[in-house]
Amino acid sequence: MSAPNLPEQAIVVLNAGSSSVKFSVFIAQASGALSLRLHGQVEALFNQPHFLVRGADGALMDQRHWSAGTQLGHHGALEYLIEFLRQHSEGIVLLGVGHRVVHGGMSYADPVRVDAATLAALAQFVPLAPLHQPHNLDAIRAVAELLPEVPQVACFDTAFHRSDPDMAQMFALPQRFFEEGVRRYGFHGLSYEYIASVLPALAPRAASGRTVVMHLGNGASMCALSAGRSVASTMGFTAIDGLPMGTRSGNLDPGVVLYLQQERGMSAAEVERLLYQQSGLLGMSGLSSDMRTLLASDSPAARRAVDHFVYRCGRELGSLAAALGGLDAVVFTAGVGENSAEIRARICRQAAWLGLQLDEAANAAGGPCISLAGSVVEAWTLPTDEELMIARHTQRVLMTQ
Ligand code: ADP
Repeated sequence: MSAPNLPEQAIVVLNAGSSSVKFSVFIAQASGALSLRLHGQVEALFNQPHFLVRGADGALMDQRHWSAGTQLGHHGALEYLIEFLRQHSEGIVLLGVGHRVVHGGMSYADPVRVDAATLAALAQFVPLAPLHQPHNLDAIRAVAELLPEVPQVACFDTAFHRSDPDMAQMFALPQRFFEEGVRRYGFHGLSYEYIASVLPALAPRAASGRTVVMHLGNGASMCALSAGRSVASTMGFTAIDGLPMGTRSGNLDPGVVLYLQQERGMSAAEVERLLYQQSGLLGMSGLSSDMRTLLASDSPAARRAVDHFVYRCGRELGSLAAALGGLDAVVFTAGVGENSAEIRARICRQAAWLGLQLDEAANAAGGPCISLAGSVVEAWTLPTDEELMIARHTQRVLMTQ
């Protein structure tokens, strides 16, 4: 006699940005392991939106274009997505929805099931992550309205860094500010947590030693791991700190902010726009925030922007190696880190003084190990998977909370 067909159990992961909602659907296997079923995004939410979904193998499953001027917004995009999922849900039950939430402040050191009180608490962090947090919360509100019976879990980019020692979290301000939450939080934690989770099987020395992971994408940061736990990060109170990024400045003398406001008459909102949206690779090159465009350009300004990015990566790597008291490994991940052999090579060559010997051929071939056999510092390039990390957390929280 054959076993009855039990419904498959699904977890939907949402990553809502300012103009797009990325989604993934994972199916829980009998063993509890999660496998990707489909993923996609709704882009350009506020003008000529575009919905696209692919299967786990990358094959296009469906897409739709809306006409110019159409404003779907987050609510409309999620309404469309939920209807699409309904139509493809035969034999599937939805266990819950997991969200990427950028800022969890001091209190959220772990993922949490969302209720009205949590949502209100998370709204307090909107000023600390204005590019992300409002949209993350919009998606939670929209799902609560559209699927009120489905539990939702918030997974924080800051949570992984709550293990950083106080020393690494402090600013040299009067202590009361630290107590009130003005401290370095660190971000991209879901990416670092995923990398830390795969290192033991792939790179035991990097897993147990002093490792700097470089998440180099549109947003960019580095995290110092000691035996897989975060001990320091280049990002701080907000996600503008640290490395220069696609459009964000990275660290800056705070006196520049005072000067811009007091002497140049810029308002706080103008400075915010400058630092979050008009700086970094875009601001320096005057051309693009996209590393591929800059690498392909002959413009001196584009070259200068890339040179400065590499220089700043080298400085921050040295700083995190000092925080770790030495360095055993580096790991490159995210859009630039996973795909640009040129940027990896330049950062590694610059880190030769730390004992890193790049294997040029392995790097050009895409790794995963890109250091020579005798290199004092190992170098790796590994794909990150923040969505899988969110799905794992969501599954665990729903089983225990
Ligand atoms: P996000 O922070 O939006 O998730 P990603 O991790 O997708 O960003 O990274 C986007 C960045 O990765 C862009 O600057 C893009 O140019 C860069 N990138 C992607 N592929 C390559 C490549 N082959 N060479 C250089 N840069 C690349």
